[in-house]
Amino acid sequence: MSRPLQLEFILSAPEVGQLPPTRAEIAFVGRSNVGKSSLLNAIAGRKKLALVSNTPGRTQLLNCFRLQRTDATVVDCPGYGYANVSKTTRASWQPMIERYLLERERLEMILLLVDGEIGPTKSDLQMLDWLRANTLPHSVIATKLDKVKSSQRDKRKRELATACMLEPADVVWVSAAKDTGIPRLRELVRLWLA
Ligand code: GDP
Repeated sequence: MSRPLQLEFILSAPEVGQLPPTRAEIAFVGRSNVGKSSLLNAIAGRKKLALVSNTPGRTQLLNCFRLQRTDATVVDCPGYGYANVSKTTRASWQPMIERYLLERERLEMILLLVDGEIGPTKSDLQMLDWLRANTLPHSVIATKLDKVKSSQRDKRKRELATACMLEPADVVWVSAAKDTGIPRLRELVRLWLA
């Protein structure tokens, strides 16, 4: 058992300019249903932390949490490709997320979540290309490891890494359901926010 990250919700902002000042920040990005809320809850050791960001109206906002007793923050970005909203609403998020990622000072790491069971989607690969093109610091986190049969795992890890043009060791695999990889991810987050 590793120590959970003590995250407290601060606010939801519609634009980067309305986020609070920070000393160091990491951002979670990924398409909806990738397991972002479950992962945030898992690293925080809480059941409902990320509920805040999943309540209607907040799904299109930048949800900001502070690591307790520090000036460091974690931002949960809206999931892209959300199925239940109109195309125009959807289209308005991408520039908002991109502005945030480009303009936010002290953004130490962007965690791009990819569904480990199904592999990177077209929109995941577009986001990855965009992060690379803008030389933004990022790490690929593959979710739902427990959904991949153990006999298939090594193969799947190689396939997912190849699809992302990475080495297998560069991808952080996690299962929020089984706590796999969560202690390691917590340590990485502590390092990025140190
Ligand atoms: P979000 O839309 O990215 O915030 O995704 P959620 O965290 O709400 O998860 C989407 C679905 O995937 C839910 O049904 C979760 O229960 C499921 N899920 C998330 N993480 C895991 C995991 O590690 N393992 C399994 N088996 N299911 C998961």
